[in-house]
Amino acid sequence: MKYDAWFQCSSGCGETHSLHDVIYRCTRCGGLLEVKHNIESLKRRSPAAWIELFERRYMGTEYPYGSGVWGKKEFVCPIIDDENIVSMFEGGTNLFWAERFGKQIGVSDLWIKQCGNSHTGSFKDLGMTVLISMVKQIVSNGSGIRAVLCASSGDTSAALAAYAAAAGIPAIILLPQAKVSPAQLIQPLANGAITLSLKTDFDGCMAIVQKLTVNPDFYLANSINSLRIEGQKTISIEIVQQFDWEVPDWIIIPGGNLGNVTALGLGFLMMQDLGIINDLPRIVCAQAAKANPLYQSYLRGFNEFKPVAAQPTLANAIQIGNPVSANRAINILKRFNGIVEQATENELANAASRADRTGLFNCPHTGVALAALLKLVERKEIRSDERVVVISTANGLKFPDFKIRYHNGELDEVNPHYVNAPVELEPDYDQVMKAIDIHLANVQ
Ligand SMILES: *Cc1c(COP(=O)(O)O)cnc(C)c1O
Ligand SMILES: [Zn+2]
Repeated sequence: MKYDAWFQCSSGCGETHSLHDVIYRCTRCGGLLEVKHNIESLKRRSPAAWIELFERRYMGTEYPYGSGVWGKKEFVCPIIDDENIVSMFEGGTNLFWAERFGKQIGVSDLWIKQCGNSHTGSFKDLGMTVLISMVKQIVSNGSGIRAVLCASSGDTSAALAAYAAAAGIPAIILLPQAKVSPAQLIQPLANGAITLSLKTDFDGCMAIVQKLTVNPDFYLANSINSLRIEGQKTISIEIVQQFDWEVPDWIIIPGGNLGNVTALGLGFLMMQDLGIINDLPRIVCAQAAKANPLYQSYLRGFNEFKPVAAQPTLANAIQIGNPVSANRAINILKRFNGIVEQATENELANAASRADRTGLFNCPHTGVALAALLKLVERKEIRSDERVVVISTANGLKFPDFKIRYHNGELDEVNPHYVNAPVELEPDYDQVMKAIDIHLANVQ
């Protein structure tokens, strides 16, 4: 049984390339390349046998198969030799039963997939382990790749820097000067990435990256590279596995460049193709109102897609006006009876903070997804007896400014309903007791 995967032009022109080639677009028509699998060989193993294999490996100690990504290696990237895999035990993240928050909003079967409980604090690790492992394999075959490269201000550069450092491959990161927070800057710096801070914005950095990657010395790690999608696909497989191989009714996911919603859908379609599942969930893609080209297109029945000029938003990882995977995401949403929702700054900040009160610690992007959930429940699109999963894309601890400024009431356009400020007192027993009594009386 030979499992195989390769790059294939997504426009249907038929061009294919080896995953060992340093190439990102079709040479004939310029279309994006996607990773295709030999499905016939995968079908030779029964659904029950796949489930048995994935269960046996899950969260185990046999490197690299305990990783949530590499435990599904045959579905992700079967052509990599195990010795080239660079894994940090990605995936296997908590599926948090949001019992109390669910009760408050009237959905008792509500779950938050905590993809930010990961090595660099976001789901980007799932894709980056695949990309860097592939680069390690290409380099070990004697290619001349000198460095991996991306333009990013946030989670992609953190993941790239960490995996490249673990592999001993130089990483180059292009950042827009003075437009990234200290928290976003510090991960690549700590991991020793060559960090170039350019006097421009993200699009300006991306333009330089595109010129640099004409040179095959540099391997591109931005999400135009479909290897990352293959790792991110495991989010869907893992969710189904965590529900004992049952498919939830709804999945809500925040979207910017729209690679992740594409990956989510592809994971479900692959499981359906192989007979592991019969049903598909409905997928909701949630966008920030400040960067909502997909929402605009959805309102027009997906008849056209027009890029927008993205405005600054607290959900800065999805501040993207011209998403690279727009067409792929639209195809997925059509297959999954999908919905696109949007959230204003006020809605996302309050939704994140409201759920924080029930034990979560949400990043602003998860806030966008939670705000979409509230709207869909409100208009009874999501019913109270349905099983709902919200994808939390990053760890809230990566966004201290967002949290601090919310609780200080300092966020623009946000009217904060869930502020909790410290009570400053003299070290006096009576004053302390009085303050406790007052506050306990106010707890709902
Ligand atoms: C990258 C990212 C997203 C968006 O994923 P896309 O694939 O660009 O749609 C959402 N949230 C966080 C925290 C991210 O880092
Ligand atoms: Zn083509």
